[in-house]
Amino acid sequence: MTFATLGLIEPLLRSLETLGYQTPTPVQAQAIPAVLAGRDLMAAAQTGTGKTAGFALPLLQLLAMEGPKVTANSVRALILVPTRELAEQVHEAIRQYAENLPLRTYAVYGGVSINPQMMKLRSGVDLLVATPGRLLDLFRQNALKFNQLQTLVLDEADRMLDLGFSEELANIYRALPKKRQTLLFSATFSDDIRLLAGQMLNDPLSIEVSPRNVAASTVKQWIVTVDKKRKPELFVHLMRKGKWKQVLVFAKTRNGVDALVEKLQGLGINADGIHGDKPQATRQRALDRFKASEVQILVATDVAARGLDIEDLPLVVNFDLPIVAEDYIHRIGRTGRAGATGEAISLVCADEVNLLSAIEMLTRQTLKRQNEPDFEPEHRVPDTDASGQVMKKPKKPKKPKVSGGGGGKRNLGKWVDSGEVAPAEPSIKPVRKVPVFNTGPRKRKP
Ligand code: AMP
Repeated sequence: MTFATLGLIEPLLRSLETLGYQTPTPVQAQAIPAVLAGRDLMAAAQTGTGKTAGFALPLLQLLAMEGPKVTANSVRALILVPTRELAEQVHEAIRQYAENLPLRTYAVYGGVSINPQMMKLRSGVDLLVATPGRLLDLFRQNALKFNQLQTLVLDEADRMLDLGFSEELANIYRALPKKRQTLLFSATFSDDIRLLAGQMLNDPLSIEVSPRNVAASTVKQWIVTVDKKRKPELFVHLMRKGKWKQVLVFAKTRNGVDALVEKLQGLGINADGIHGDKPQATRQRALDRFKASEVQILVATDVAARGLDIEDLPLVVNFDLPIVAEDYIHRIGRTGRAGATGEAISLVCADEVNLLSAIEMLTRQTLKRQNEPDFEPEHRVPDTDASGQVMKKPKKPKKPKVSGGGGGKRNLGKWVDSGEVAPAEPSIKPVRKVPVFNTGPRKRKP
């Protein structure tokens, strides 16, 4: 199968040739003809599957071939994404695909001045990539009209709900024309996403390119157990031993990112960090330098790293496990992209056993454990498996009491489920419930 047989027009084929895309990925093979035919789409496709081109190529084709010219402050196709980084990344991909087409594309997101965005929108754009909050701001200030909107894409819809954007999505939804094509992409399909899909989509075609909630099989995944306080030391040890060249590292908190970067820089290691407290320009610069291999180790929180697309990234390290198990899939989706092989290593301490168990249950696999000599933890990480059970080491049977003739009860040890183990902090559930279209508080703005 080729892109030509999927019905793409010549200007797009030329762009793809320049980019070196030879064969459509499975999500592209299914999505492109369906979108060209005007269908709504509900696609379970995780990052790294080529989903961006899956929706962007046919969308650009439809915009180029049909519909009226865009008028002032109008937009013909809208792509909603959860974070600024993803907005930049999706727009950059679209810019490349649309290289040979006379279309105006643009990206808007928060954290930067709104005025230049308002100026740019004055003459209208054919395709706009946007984060929900900034899009609403622009709409409310009359910088944007949706009267010409023909297509809406929700990219990484699960993440948008995770970040508390359900209210913004509801408001945007109300402002859009009822007659439109809607495409929904999500790495995972919780009940909330299905509810959202039910409200927004019309007789959608369902596409599932990888088994639900299963991490990319091209990524070799393993864990090293270690005491919490020795994680930085272990990281440096593994880095030197493995001669790591370019690593994306995930830490749980903003402070955690700063502390690790400081530690690495103190050792003369070329490291930088990105998280939500840093200005957008600083984040982008760190990212660009990492992509250009000018920075060897990039440490990031989940939100900041959302949407990072670095070609041939060989290794992702989870310095801390994610609080939300689904983030594990997003994190390791940074490596092993588009068929390349990658490696994902997680440093796991005893506190994180329930997080580990949730990840194994979600991804339906038991992560291979590899002990690092001299780093064996004093606080043992109980065994876990994909069933969600956490196995405490069977206790040694107590000696039966001899006195009194009655004999003591023998404790033969037991298998316990995760509920019986002292909960890791903070307590976790594999999939959190975020009400769809309600007014719950936003957790974090990208
Ligand atoms: P995505 O899942 O959309 O983030 O894409 C993951 C990566 O795969 C990006 O770097 C794309 O440029 C690349 N890619 C997407 N489609 C193809 C293709 N058909 N052939 C080669 N690379 C691709």
